[in-house]
Amino acid sequence: MELITILNRCHRFRGFVYHRARFSSDHKSIEVSVRPRKGSSAVCSRCHQPAAGYDQLAERRFEFLPFWGFFVFLLYTMRCVDCRRCCAIVVEELPRRDGKRTLTKAYMLFLARWARRLSWKETAQAFRTSWEKVFDAVEHIVTWGLEHRTPGQIDAIGVDEIQYAKGHKYLTLVYQIDIGIIRLLWVGKERTIESFQGFFTAMGQEVISKIAFVCSDMWEPYLKLIREKCSQALHILDRFHIVANMNKALDKIRAEETGRMKREGRDPVLKKSRWLLLKRSENLGDEQHFRLRDLLRYNLKTVRAYLLKEAFQQLWDYNSPAWAGKFLDEWCRQTMRSRIEPMKKIARSLRQHRELILNYFRAQKLISSGVVEGLNNKAKVTLRKSYGFRTYRVLELALYHSLGKLPEPESTHDFF
Ligand SMILES: [Zn+2]
Repeated sequence: MELITILNRCHRFRGFVYHRARFSSDHKSIEVSVRPRKGSSAVCSRCHQPAAGYDQLAERRFEFLPFWGFFVFLLYTMRCVDCRRCCAIVVEELPRRDGKRTLTKAYMLFLARWARRLSWKETAQAFRTSWEKVFDAVEHIVTWGLEHRTPGQIDAIGVDEIQYAKGHKYLTLVYQIDIGIIRLLWVGKERTIESFQGFFTAMGQEVISKIAFVCSDMWEPYLKLIREKCSQALHILDRFHIVANMNKALDKIRAEETGRMKREGRDPVLKKSRWLLLKRSENLGDEQHFRLRDLLRYNLKTVRAYLLKEAFQQLWDYNSPAWAGKFLDEWCRQTMRSRIEPMKKIARSLRQHRELILNYFRAQKLISSGVVEGLNNKAKVTLRKSYGFRTYRVLELALYHSLGKLPEPESTHDFF
């Protein structure tokens, strides 16, 4: 069996034939020359129509999947065409190649699939190619996927931000969180009104107008645009963020009080209490339980804030929006009397967003930010993997690639 026979079986393309296969001079690669099929005319790369041949360019090398420890290159002398439609002399279009890239489409798909499982650097190492080529491959596949995806009907979306570099550099991520399909829909630089606006433009009015549920945190630019653009949707505040804010406040109170007690020379009873206080009490072990019980005997701001936080959790057990609302109001009233400023700040913010919080119950608790949180954790893992250069473009591609569930170009052969 000859190499050409195998190639014809797995990677045929119309209008071209494999001519001859040979080793390169250093015997590290196999070079296969490709020629136009007799009688088939070249295709103009501008209008994608057949056109008359004009001249030949220098021979180019296109990288194909490596084979038994040899690099494989397809060698081809590209033609220029004299296109009457475009009134220009243009380089011909090749079916298995994308623009200026030097990888065949089959190899790009192969590399991109591995780049979803490994980091880009590991992919480059495993197939002895460069990080830049892996980048090219992912960029090609993601671009194709974004052009060919169909938004379909989107019922529920979740908006969230993640920090991707020091100095408050954020990305805005929008997910589809329907029961049947959960995927990343859109990535935007920054978390401003202008950047988030990009999502609505990209999806189009028709898709946006059918969205029934939106889940977000309390970031004002998000709230504002959602009010404007998705006025028909039930907007639900992300439960996870409310609890996270409360934990932040508690942490601040504890740190302040610990410092104050130390300065006043009092017993360091709050020492090593951080996780005792931040974890939900039902998640504590036996020993931690005893320590917590011990701690709760003290009349400290930290302890009072902790009890308020724990009491708040009861909110999520309600089913009726009316009763949940009564509970929320009562909790805010108590907290406003607590004289603990960070907790009072939380209460003020909850009062301000009362209706959005209660929308969680109006949506019959069906839309949970847990899904968004899970996706955001995956996004953070994607970012943590080493992608070489942490530019916005790299992160955007990596996120779409791993979470976008994008369609892939079809291939007639499965290169496994
Ligand atoms: Zn043309």
